[in-house]
Amino acid sequence: MAHSRSPAMQSAALRELGLDWSYQLLPVPPALFAETVGSLAGLDYLGINVTVPHKQAALALADEASESARQIGAANTLTFKDGRIVADNTDAPGILDVLAEPVTERSALVLGAGGSARAAAWALREAGASVAIWNRTPARAEKLAAEFGVTALAMPEPADVIVNCTSVGLPSALEQTSSADAELSKLHLTDEMIARCTHVIDLVYRDPPTALAAAGRRLGVQTTDGLDVLVCQGARSLRIWSGREPDLEVMREAARGAR
Ligand code: NAP
Repeated sequence: MAHSRSPAMQSAALRELGLDWSYQLLPVPPALFAETVGSLAGLDYLGINVTVPHKQAALALADEASESARQIGAANTLTFKDGRIVADNTDAPGILDVLAEPVTERSALVLGAGGSARAAAWALREAGASVAIWNRTPARAEKLAAEFGVTALAMPEPADVIVNCTSVGLPSALEQTSSADAELSKLHLTDEMIARCTHVIDLVYRDPPTALAAAGRRLGVQTTDGLDVLVCQGARSLRIWSGREPDLEVMREAARGAR
């Protein structure tokens, strides 16, 4: 991921903690992933963060995995410990970290059925929410909903919490998007639905804000964008590796400044 903000964010956190470690970006093609992880584990590395498209492969090659990584079917954090590779998924709790209030018995609408939707749907279900999934390709939503024992929707319906886990709003897709209305209509969301929420989370981060984040803020709904989720999942990875408590504000500022 050539555009990752994680190196700047993690490096700032390490500096603030006074840890003389280095966090580097290492783009790896899928064919070389297992070999590369094996080499890093044999060197002086404590662990790695893994992103698309390697998260399933990361889980598959680990010697041990947390229950959450196993159930989600993907790992974004690998730790090299005593000659073993341990897999975790911090994406899922990172999504819950940004919610100010418990979601027990609240309704949650997950938009998307890809890797991040799996983490979001699993996390929200585990936190006690009643989860519904909508996806552009309905068969993928139905498959995911059946696997997690939640509901698949043919069209988005109002919910207390809405989490956008699609790539709608990604900067690279911006040229193809004519307006905020067009962006929201791809997600079949209206102002009325957004205004009824207590919290909107858009995993996509963009400057200027995505149409969903902008609408949430304009309508007075508690709104979190992907930058905050990135900070929370990254902080959880760093806690696993260091046993220390990173400064979230330092990480947020560094991530915000990184382009
Ligand atoms: P993914 O596995 O490739 O899934 C992409 C999803 O987007 C699919 O559900 C796809 O639907 C949907 N989609 C794509 N174009 C669409 C369109 N025009 N209209 C409606 N739906 C569309 O990707 P992912 O790993 O889940 O990531 C999704 C997004 O979350 C990305 O933008 C990524 O950058 C972001 N993300 C952020 C964080 C963070 O920490 N902030 C973490 C993870 C991911 P189909 O099934 O129909 O193709």
